[in-house]
Amino acid sequence: MPTLKKTSVMNIFTDGEKYFSDLRWKNKTKTCIRCNANVVYTLSSGRLRCKECGLTFGNFTRTYLGKLNVPIYEITHLLYLFALGIPVYRARYYVLVSMKTAHKAYTVFREALYDSCMQEFYRKLKENPELEYELKSYFCDIDNFAWGTDGRSVIVGFIEIDGNVYIFPVSGENFKSLCEQNIIKESRSGLQYIRQDCYIGKLSIIGSHLSIPRVSDEEKTRHTNKKIPKLWNYLRRQLYIYHGISISHHHLFLKELEFRFNNRDREIFTLLSEMLVKKVSYHTNN
Ligand SMILES: [Zn+2]
Repeated sequence: MPTLKKTSVMNIFTDGEKYFSDLRWKNKTKTCIRCNANVVYTLSSGRLRCKECGLTFGNFTRTYLGKLNVPIYEITHLLYLFALGIPVYRARYYVLVSMKTAHKAYTVFREALYDSCMQEFYRKLKENPELEYELKSYFCDIDNFAWGTDGRSVIVGFIEIDGNVYIFPVSGENFKSLCEQNIIKESRSGLQYIRQDCYIGKLSIIGSHLSIPRVSDEEKTRHTNKKIPKLWNYLRRQLYIYHGISISHHHLFLKELEFRFNNRDREIFTLLSEMLVKKVSYHTNN
């Protein structure tokens, strides 16, 4: 896994186009994004054209990066601030784009992150068929993750696989069924223990924002896992730093924080850059 050299940050700022383009094609032959043919030539404008089907496209067409109509050095700068964990209301003072544009860029970064994190989660489940079956049976429809709310709360599950913690949505029906079986208590908000590597969390909605309750003392005594309650507390802390998490994008924030938590000992600018040059597969109504 390539990581960022400390001295190379300024080079990326001055030649972001080359940096992202190298990541996009990874020294492989450029292929057409429509017909996959590898007979692509570069026009004098820098755009690419397919000899086979005649399509003209850019290096980042149909990627997350291509969703942003902002000069690449501003994107690089915004991504750097994002990687450092600077919230957008603060980042906007250090870039030459409007708050609205900075906001849009942060949302695209989060969409790319969400997409990659979900793909990794799917991969982990495919490697663990028993877990996949269990999730399907008791928690959610894994073929169609629905991050819905009932207007008052958001129910999510936490599972630890190979040392990483993953957050997934729990459907209202499954939550009810877990309460009926006395596995968890319906009235209790916050984090509830299911077993060593699996917890359920109930987050309240206040206005248009999420609220993450403190873990109750009674619940604390049942905790045998360290990572999941740690991630829960991390979510609580970040909520203050971000000035709240909006309900409409809560799944993007939860996945972002899951990613930051699982990669807290790693340099993430490079990881984020790689996610940004991937083809868009995320659907906004997911
Ligand atoms: Zn083509």
